Amino acid sequence: MRYDILINKLEFFGFHGVLEEEKRLGQKFIISGKLTVNSPDALKEDNCEKTVNYSEVCHLIGEIVEKERFNLIESLGDEIARRILLEFPLVDSVTIQVDKPWAPIRLNVENVAVVITRSWHNAYIGVGSNMGDCRSNIETAVKYINDSIFNKNVNVSTLIKTKPYGYVDQNDFLNGAIAIKTMLSPEELLHFLQKIELDLHRTREIHWGPRTIDLDIELYDNLVINEPDLKIPHHEMHKRDFVLQPLCELNPYLVHPVYGKYLVDLYDEIKK
Ligand code: ATP
Ligand code: CA
Ligand code: CA
Repeated sequence: MRYDILINKLEFFGFHGVLEEEKRLGQKFIISGKLTVNSPDALKEDNCEKTVNYSEVCHLIGEIVEKERFNLIESLGDEIARRILLEFPLVDSVTIQVDKPWAPIRLNVENVAVVITRSWHNAYIGVGSNMGDCRSNIETAVKYINDSIFNKNVNVSTLIKTKPYGYVDQNDFLNGAIAIKTMLSPEELLHFLQKIELDLHRTREIHWGPRTIDLDIELYDNLVINEPDLKIPHHEMHKRDFVLQPLCELNPYLVHPVYGKYLVDLYDEIKK
């Protein structure tokens, strides 16, 4: 059962803002929120342990608004949304509105506000390595993913040894797939993974050439994205056994959003 909890106009005094006087004197901030809760049992059992305690949510918001300091109300709203998602596992999605009624803009304005939404998304990442200690490279990448405050429920497939693809004059690969719940947007997830590749000394000398680590976004919910630097589903995933085999181990009934087929069926087609 999915339902929404609404929080309207919680008032706090905080010290957020870019201007020196905002940081020194402080001002009023008003927070409103919508939390989408996914709890199969809350209403069936009429049990408050199976839902989200909105009093605790309001106190958490107060802690953040009163004790922390941000230049931007965008950052304040994002931090509130992120912390609610992390600390209340039944919440799937959060929208936070931060109002700054005393914003010092020297004009007669009733209110200035930002609205930020963060949600949990299911993403599947393909991982490959064929330089150095491949298993350890992949384990390090998984640790980065696990340690991020934006991810949870990280699940790694069996790692399989595969022959190189495209450019064949190189060592065998170790490949696998990683399922995560993430609150990063697709673009943020791509940048996050590219930062891990950089930290693990990934260089791009030969296309499809040797690499310490390669992290590709294979699927992100059932989104289809076709930007120059980001294609989701990954443009070749349906053709690659080293991608489909580990993904099928994690979840064979994922549907490829472009072909409308189960991954297990796509994998059967290329095995023929
Ligand atoms: P392939 O993408 O065919 O597996 P590759 O992984 O060796 O090849 P990279 O050099 O790692 O290619 O990446 C090239 C570019 O692909 C990146 O700069 C990135 O912007 C882009 N890209 C597009 N879609 C994705 C995606 N779904 N996941 C990761 N990178 C992507
Ligand atoms: Ca790749
Ligand atoms: Ca890549």
